[in-house]
Amino acid sequence: MARDYYGLLGVAKNATDQEIKRAYRKLARELHPDVNPDEAAQAKFKDVSAAYEVLSDPEKRRIVDMGGDPLESAGAGGAGFSGAGFGGLGDVFEAFFGGMSGAGGGQRKPRGRVQPGADSLLRTRLSLAECAVGVTKHLTVDTAILCDNCHGAGTNGNSKPVRCETCGGAGEVQSVQRSFLGQVLTSRPCPTCRGAGETIPDPCHKCGGDGRVRARREIAAPIPAGVANGMRVRLAAQGEVGPGGGHAGDLYVEIVEQPHDVFVRDGDDLHCTIRVPMVDAALGTTVVIDTILDGPTELTIAPGTQPNEVSVLRGHGMPRLRSGARGDLIAHLDIVVPTKLDGKQTELLRKYKGLRERDRAEVMTAQSEHNSGLFARLRASFSGR
Ligand SMILES: [Zn+2]
Ligand SMILES: [Zn+2]
Repeated sequence: MARDYYGLLGVAKNATDQEIKRAYRKLARELHPDVNPDEAAQAKFKDVSAAYEVLSDPEKRRIVDMGGDPLESAGAGGAGFSGAGFGGLGDVFEAFFGGMSGAGGGQRKPRGRVQPGADSLLRTRLSLAECAVGVTKHLTVDTAILCDNCHGAGTNGNSKPVRCETCGGAGEVQSVQRSFLGQVLTSRPCPTCRGAGETIPDPCHKCGGDGRVRARREIAAPIPAGVANGMRVRLAAQGEVGPGGGHAGDLYVEIVEQPHDVFVRDGDDLHCTIRVPMVDAALGTTVVIDTILDGPTELTIAPGTQPNEVSVLRGHGMPRLRSGARGDLIAHLDIVVPTKLDGKQTELLRKYKGLRERDRAEVMTAQSEHNSGLFARLRASFSGR
């Protein structure tokens, strides 16, 4: 099967070259490994790049439009893009990102002493109810904060940083190495100033010249209603202050949702199981569910309810994040047949049986409607071995 290259880029079959280029550029900005280290994103980036490689080449695009796959025929073993395709990728990037490698060596500026701070992450446990209503979590955060003695300058009193003597302020040192290719000029960050280009002869006694110190503090993190396990709430500029008092990174609070006694969450829906006595299933009944957001709520169980049927309370599930919508509450009905009958009950059931003489146990055909679910499950379990 040929891959859906148009689908990978999200463009129509009659898209112009400009549209294809625009679509690719947009996806590349999201998925490029320098931007998005996530593994799934990298795999997607490969696919998307392959699609661009194909659709930006009129000859290859013609093959696709005829139902073929130009990468499939070229590559060995169906891997498609993995080998040959990467040759073209450099060109693609040079076209878009202006040839970063072309800038040439030697002209780099010193890194500077002030650097932006890193993001930080902490996890917090939330009950299902807290996820449902939202909550303000009081958290203890341990990050680098601005040094209050030097306010990030890193210097003591009125002293000033001076130009690094080792690198002359360039931030890097160069050395010539001999190799079989001849002489090679290499440069590396200056070991004295670590790339900053300047040093502090009289560093702040509190932070040692770093401009920041570690500290614990309490913060109130507003968690919106509708969060779920694994989601991260971003608190801007609450992360690590950077070297030299650089702008603080962000703090991410990751939600660890605790299992609930009654409800199992699936996205915005909540599932629970209700045990229904056989007679109640036959006659119908109501049951009160203690819902998380709406308090005790009545659920109707229809007369003639069968085992494994569900009864749904629409809109009684979890709230959707940043929207008024709600998921459903889905009750799975577990019909319970009584196991211990006393004499009177046995007698009554026999009497009932007398009134329903046509009801009897029978072997079903494998194709019958009632069996379809069961057999599908059996087949799946056999083929799984
Ligand atoms: Zn230096
Ligand atoms: Zn300081």
